[in-house]
Formats: sequence, structure tokens, C-alpha cells
Amino acid sequence: MHDDSTLVEQRIRRELNDRLMPLMYRAKLPLTVEAWDTPGEPVPYTEAMAALATEARPFIVGRRWSRPWGTTWFRFTGDVPAEWEGQSVEAVIDLGFHPDSAGFQAEGLVWAPGVDGRGLPVQGVHPRRTAVPLAATPGPVDLVVEAASNPAFPMVGTRAGHLGSLETAGDQALFSLREAALAWRNDDVFHLLLDAEVLFGLMMALPREARRRKRLLRHLERAFGALDYTDIARTAPVARRLLEPALAEGAAPSTHEVIAVGHAHIDTAWLWPLRETVRKCARTFASATVMMDDYPEYRFVCSQAAQYEWIEQRYPALFERIRERVARGQWQPVGGMWVEADMNLPSGESLVRQMVYGQRYFESRFGARCREVWIPDVFGYPASLPQIFVAGGCDRFVTQKLSWNKQNVFPHSTFWWHGIDGTRVLTHFPPVDTYNASIVGSEMVFSERNFKEHGWSDVSLMPFGFGNGGGGPTREMLERARRFADIDGSPRLRQGTTDEFFAQLEAEAAAGAPVPVWDGELYFETHRGTLTSQSRTKVGNRRCERLLREAELWWATVSHGAMPAEIAAELEQLWKDVLLQQFHDIIPGSSITWVHDDAEAAHERVAARLEELIAQALERITSGPSVANAAGRARHEVIAVDGAPAGDGPRQHLSDGRTAFAVEVPAFGTAPLHASACADAVAVTEHSFTNSSIAVSWDLEGTITSIIDVRAARELLPHGEHVRLEIAPDRPIEYDAWDLEAWTRGLGEEVGGVTDVQVVEAGPLLATLRVQRSFGGSTLVQEITLRAGSPRLDIAFEIDWREDEQLLTLMVPLDVRAREAACDIQFGHVMRPTHASTSWDAAKFEVCAHRFVDLSEPGFGVAVLNDGRYGHGVQDGGVRVSLLRSARFPSPVQDVGRHRVTLAILPHGPGLTDVLAEAEALNEPLRAVTGTAEKADVPAVTIDHPGVQVSSVKRADDGSGDLIVRLHEALGNHTTVTVRTPWRIAEADACNLLEEPQRSFEVSDGIVAMTLRPFELVTLRLR
Ligand SMILES: [Zn+2]
Repeated sequence: MHDDSTLVEQRIRRELNDRLMPLMYRAKLPLTVEAWDTPGEPVPYTEAMAALATEARPFIVGRRWSRPWGTTWFRFTGDVPAEWEGQSVEAVIDLGFHPDSAGFQAEGLVWAPGVDGRGLPVQGVHPRRTAVPLAATPGPVDLVVEAASNPAFPMVGTRAGHLGSLETAGDQALFSLREAALAWRNDDVFHLLLDAEVLFGLMMALPREARRRKRLLRHLERAFGALDYTDIARTAPVARRLLEPALAEGAAPSTHEVIAVGHAHIDTAWLWPLRETVRKCARTFASATVMMDDYPEYRFVCSQAAQYEWIEQRYPALFERIRERVARGQWQPVGGMWVEADMNLPSGESLVRQMVYGQRYFESRFGARCREVWIPDVFGYPASLPQIFVAGGCDRFVTQKLSWNKQNVFPHSTFWWHGIDGTRVLTHFPPVDTYNASIVGSEMVFSERNFKEHGWSDVSLMPFGFGNGGGGPTREMLERARRFADIDGSPRLRQGTTDEFFAQLEAEAAAGAPVPVWDGELYFETHRGTLTSQSRTKVGNRRCERLLREAELWWATVSHGAMPAEIAAELEQLWKDVLLQQFHDIIPGSSITWVHDDAEAAHERVAARLEELIAQALERITSGPSVANAAGRARHEVIAVDGAPAGDGPRQHLSDGRTAFAVEVPAFGTAPLHASACADAVAVTEHSFTNSSIAVSWDLEGTITSIIDVRAARELLPHGEHVRLEIAPDRPIEYDAWDLEAWTRGLGEEVGGVTDVQVVEAGPLLATLRVQRSFGGSTLVQEITLRAGSPRLDIAFEIDWREDEQLLTLMVPLDVRAREAACDIQFGHVMRPTHASTSWDAAKFEVCAHRFVDLSEPGFGVAVLNDGRYGHGVQDGGVRVSLLRSARFPSPVQDVGRHRVTLAILPHGPGLTDVLAEAEALNEPLRAVTGTAEKADVPAVTIDHPGVQVSSVKRADDGSGDLIVRLHEALGNHTTVTVRTPWRIAEADACNLLEEPQRSFEVSDGIVAMTLRPFELVTLRLR
């Protein structure tokens, strides 16, 4: 037989799109349009209705509406003719949509008055949901649509970053109302389109030589041959009948099963500000609830407690509808977290609170906690997550982001993921490789082909629905899902929740299936620039994390029993404000200017309030001028304060008028602000500083050419090398703020431009070398400081950054032979290769580390510490710290302006104990306070092992007054530790993250002793 298959395929595609599609409506009548432009930011429904009643102006279809980010409220009125009675009647609203990219441009929300007249969101309107189904009764129609003029941002090629801020977006309207009509839908054509799309899509996805593909072609050919476009009402049913046998041919009994779950990934902020996300949620959630009535099999999962809370507060009628759907089992809250947070950058304690506040919200509003973590779009997953998830009540985990890996294909679809402490979580990567599937033939066939567990598993998950900007499933997707339920050539499709999917998977695992294991981090092989982009957002988060920890610690110390309720409530709200900004496009730095302006303002506000709360608590703990230590270790260090301290220890007057002196402070405690004795001193020459631990020297340009560990008598820098600042052209191929390419660092040039080199503090307690540079449009002041008694060399940077598409790094070359670097992560550390031997190693050319990166030989090591950076390179013969980037999309002003950060170089003996101590000290600066208490209080808790770190000391959230201490083993050892408090401990329980006891510890003599596994995280409740 002659092969005409390609031609026939082309013919069917053309007929389907260009001839059949336009015949979906039998008749259309124009609607009358009135409009009211909201003058500023969005307003509530009632306010808009009042304005529509008095200020609405007639509006003509074809006219432009609203400036960028503006809102126009449209009222559409008309009459359903008598002859349409009982037919499928809908309004068709096209706000001027670009045909694709739902959620990335103009969007509308259809409102009904609701039972109380305060407004009920009915459904969203976007390019793939322009139809608003109406009652098929003749008579007047009155529709109100809140239309948002959200700009589109083409991701690659053109740049429209200026649209990402109200200040620079201009007032040129972006969209014209294209259509507003009453329409009578031809149901036969609607369903024929779906039948044909499903069969055509399936056919095109099958191998060219497959029998099924060849048969489908002939079925479609016959059906389209039977169509008479001039008499579609008569011929569409004929064509449908001709396709019936092709749709009825069922899948083989052993066919793989896809559990399809409706979803709408809504980025809490990204190419739109937080305030717009609130409305995106309303549009998307309304659409989801309304379709559940027409499609009882429809299941929808939705994450992010913060988004539910917005709806609860601002759209109460819609929230009630969601609760009904949850009760019915059609809507499943998932994820257990406050937002879908980035996982690399937040502290361990932040991730804990994401789960605590998320789970509490879901349980209090919907009666159940989530069992799965749902973060399909997050840029990498550190190895401490499994135990955080499990302790937060989630033993299941869904993501798919590693399908974006640029170098290596992840080998599993379903697996046990083992974390640093050995905890495991059942993990699934939906093999459709997206969280925004649309249920078409190519996805169905690919899902099965890409599933890597056919050897033992028969089920995979497919999240479908427009996402990122929201939108969610459409009725066309739900219709196609029905057709894919059981059809030859495709896996079977069943709509189900994530719960149903995991239950099936767990049954397979329980039956002894060989579930593969992945041990260690799920490193994401792209988007490495998000470890550095928008530095102020990251530093603001880090500052707030530190202040939250301090505020809870000092209020726990001052409260002998439960904390004042109003303080507890305020701290919870401040936590939530910080957690919100940890969303996976905010803290990574990948959002428009507006979003980062909001984030910086939020951090500023939260930090200012926390400083007040901390001061209030410390005033009641300390007596007279004092110093407070929020770190878990006693400290003896040199500090600098205004004024003159008491005490007989040595002091040094600094050039800025402050006084430096040594203080001693217990862990989690306070001490009088007395200058104490100091056995060490810094000796200063024109080109060197030396104390008992470190000798550093520099050349005429202020470049550090030697760092000697005095005790070990060992030079840290390789022969002939020096510590250097480098600047490199940073031009990603695809996603500017997101990506850092492997070759960027190789293009780096040393930053010169030295304008001044001066020793500004000359010891004996504190010595500082100041080096000033000017390069490009930027200036940089670098202060190298050595303190008496300190084993670390601090390098503080103050940078006024004015570069365009450049990467600034500090390279610390090290003469240490280590094949792996220890990198600080939440509740532990992971080892990363210092070489690029395999493709998996090579991909890790830029890695995330929190407070330190360490290169060690068995007896000696050097750590590079920081108080506010995350991106590091360990494959260039030392440690490289990414200081700043300057991508130009999506924010054209990314990182322009002033930045401060302190790095430190710390040589040390065997193990990481000293590294942990100094990393904590650098990140928890001692705080000078003046108190009015009778006597200074004792530390709220004492831990006797340097390898055990405490991330939180607080009063229990239940108001019982119990003390909560969250600690973890940080070195990777089995460790025995004792915990004591000034109040005799009566009972001690190990709790989950929600502070619910899981098991008891023995208490002897008011002291708790416990053995921790390597990297074990324990939430202790002490009574
Ligand atoms: Zn996302």
C-alpha cells in the first residue's frame, strides 16, 4: 500500500484546527459592556460594585483597558434568546489574551453577588478558559469580571524587566478587550473536537510503525471525510460515531496506570507581586471548585497554607466552598508547608517552621495534616530534608524538578530517599516531567516511556493543570482524562489524589518490591545562580532568622513558664512573614523588582520589630551594662562598643571612637560588660598581623600573600598564590537570574583598582587593614581584621555594586589535599567533590553552603566562613565564594547598590568542632545591652557537647510553659550529650516538630542524658 500517512496527518491537523474548531458555537450575540478602572491598587468586590453603579462608562469591544498592573472591572449585560432554552449557553470573554501562557498575562475573575451580596468568585478567565457557562434559561444576563492587566514577560530573548515595577512600567495599556459575547455551543462539535484531539495526539505520539498508529490514522481519515462543514449540525454526530470504535479499543490488562491529579502551581510571587498572587489564588481556586460539580471524578491537590489563609481572610465565601470540596474528598490539601519554600537557602529552623505552621494550618482548617511534601518546582534538595519531612509528619515526597538537570539523568522515578542521618522518605518524580501536564497523547505516552520503575511498579503520578501563574485544569483536560481512562496505546488514566497514589505505591513496597535507594542530596544541575542573585533578599532573610532565634531564646529565658500570649502570637506572625519570603522564586532572587522591593521592606520591618522584642527581653534578664551571647558555646572574644567599659582588662581605642576589649560570656547567657583579661595580643607591622594563632601578610596592594597557622607552623596558601577578588562576565544562555554557567569562572580577571591601603587599627586587641578599590562603576572597601585570642581572620566587604552581567567572587586558594569539601547545610553538612572526575562531580561546580565550607586533611584543615553568602565553588584548588551577580532579567536592577558581608578564613586541627564554634560566633555577634534586672539570669539551657548544636530554645507553642530545645548532632558521630536547665527538669520527651511527645528520655537528678545518631535532629520538650 502506498504510504500517504504524513500527508493525511497534515490534513487532519489542518481540518481540526482551522475548520472544525471555529464551528464550536452555533450562534453568538454581542454583550453590552461597561467598565470602571480602579484608580490604584486592587479593591474589594463591594467597593467595585458601588463604583460600577455610579461611575461606570460604556466600553466598546476592541478598545484598550488599564495600564500595566491596573484593574478594570467590566460589567457585561445581555439577553439569552428564547430559542436557546435548554442548550449549552455560555458567555465568551476574551480580554485580549495572547493565545497561550495562561497565568502569564491578563487574567479575569468572574464574580457573582453571593448569598450575602459581598461577592462570590465564580471562576477565572484566561486564554484557555474564555467560556463562562450560564444557565440555559431565556432572560437577562449580568456578569461582572475583575480584569487584571498583568504584563507578560517573554522569558528568553526580549527583555521586559522594566514592567516588573510600578515605577518603571509606564501607563501604556497592554490589552484590548477582544470579545464579549453570549454563545450557544454546539455540543457535538465540542465533543468531536475532544475525540479527535485525543486520538490524533495519541497517534502522533506512537511509533510510526505501530499498528495502532496506522489504524488510528484511518479512523480519523474516515471521520473527517464524513464532515460537511456547511452542515456541521448533521455531520458532527456522524463523525463522532465513526471514531467510537477507536476510542473503545481498551488498553491491555498489564498496562501501566497513571494517576492524574488536578493541580495549579501558583508561584507565591515571581513575575507578579504577592498582592497579585492573592487574586491568582481566587481565580484558580474558584475555577477548581466550580468544575467539581460537573466532573465528580475530578480531584485537585493544592499546597501552601499561606495561600489558603489569604482566601480565608479575603474571600470567605470561596473558602467555604473549598472546605466543602475537601470534605467531599475532591480537593486535597498537600505539602504540609507554609509556602513551597526554596530548600537550599532557608535555615534548618526555617524549614521546621514551614512544616509546623503549614501542618497546624491544614489540621485546624481541614481536619488533617498532610502526609506528603509537595515541592515540584524547587531548585535542589539538601540531604537533611528527609528527617525534617518525617519529623514534620510527611513520609512521602513529590517533586519533578530534577528532570531539568543539564548534565545527568536522574536514574529513578520512585525511590527511597535517605538523608544524612539515615531517615528515609518515599519519593516520586512524576515521569511526565512537569507539574503542568495538560493530558494529551504525547504526555501519556511519554509518561509511560520515561517511567524508570516498570521492573517493579505499575503506577505513576501526573499533576495536570495550568501552573506557575495559576489557572489549573480546564474542562477540556477533564474531558480528555475521561477518554484516556482505558484506551489502547496509552497507559490507563485514573483521576485520584496524591494520597491514593501513595497508598498504591506503599502497597507495592510492602509486598516486597525492590524499591531503589538514593542516599544523599538531590543536587539540581542548573539554576546555580539562585544561590547568589538578589543578595539583599538573602541577607535580609538570614538576619531575620538570627533575630527570630534570639527573640525566642531570650523570651524563653525571661519567662519562668509560659511566654506572654501576645508576645507568642507576635513571634508566630513574624515567623510567617519571614517564611512567606522564602518562597522558591523570592529568596532565590528570580523575581521581578517589585517582589524584591517587597521582600526587603518586609525583612526591614520584621528585623526592626525583633530588635525591639529582643531588647525588651534582655532588659529584664540583665543588670546594668551587659553583653548577651545567643550562641550555644561560652565565648571569650574581643568586641568593640561605644563608651568605656568597667573592669581591669586591657582596652584599645578604635579610630571610629569605639573601644575594643575582651569579654567572657557563657553559652545562651549574659555577663557584665567588663573588660576582662586577655592573654593574647596582635602584633602589627607595616605588612603583617600576628596573634598566637595566625600570621597574615600582604603586599603593597594590600593583597593577602601569606596566611600562616602559627600553632601548626603551616602556610595555608599554595606557593606563589594569593587571596584574590575576581570578576567575570556572567552571561547565562537561558535564564539570567537563575543560571550560572560552568565556564563563567574561567573567564575571571583579578580585580585591581586599589586606591588606598592602610592599617586603620594597630592592635594589641584588634588590628585592621583597609583596602579600597574602584573598578568599573563600583567601589569596594575590604577590611581584614585579626583579633587577640581569635583563630580566624575576618575579611569584611562593603561594596557599592554597579556592574552589568558580571560575577564577583573571592578565591581563597588552599594548600590542602582534600578530595571532598564539607559544606554546611541545615542540621549538618555534606561532602562535595573538589574535582570533576565524573559528570556527576563536574555538575557540582557551584554548590550551596550556609555558614562554612571546609577543606581538611586528617590532621589539619581550613574553613572559609561567611555571615551571608551561599554560592561556593570547591573545584578550583581552594574555596571560592560567590559575592555578587548582576543579571538583568527578570529584574533589570538586580543587586545594584550597597552590600555588606563578612567572610573569614579559619585554619584548624582535626575535625569540625572549631569550625562549628567559629561559624556560630561569626553569625551570632555578641550583643551589648543595658538591663534593669536585680541580677543577671542564668542560661535557659546548657548542653555539654561541642558537636551538638542547638537551633532553637523556646517556650512550647501550646502555652504550657514547657521548654522546647531543638538540637542536632552536627559532626556525624554517635554522641552522648546531657542537657540541663536552671529549673530542675522533671520530664523530658523527644517530640516531632509540632512539639508532640513521641518518646521519653530518662531524667536523672534533673538532668537529661541522651545518645544521638550521626546528624540526628531532636526536638526536646522539658517540663
Ligand atoms: Zn514555582
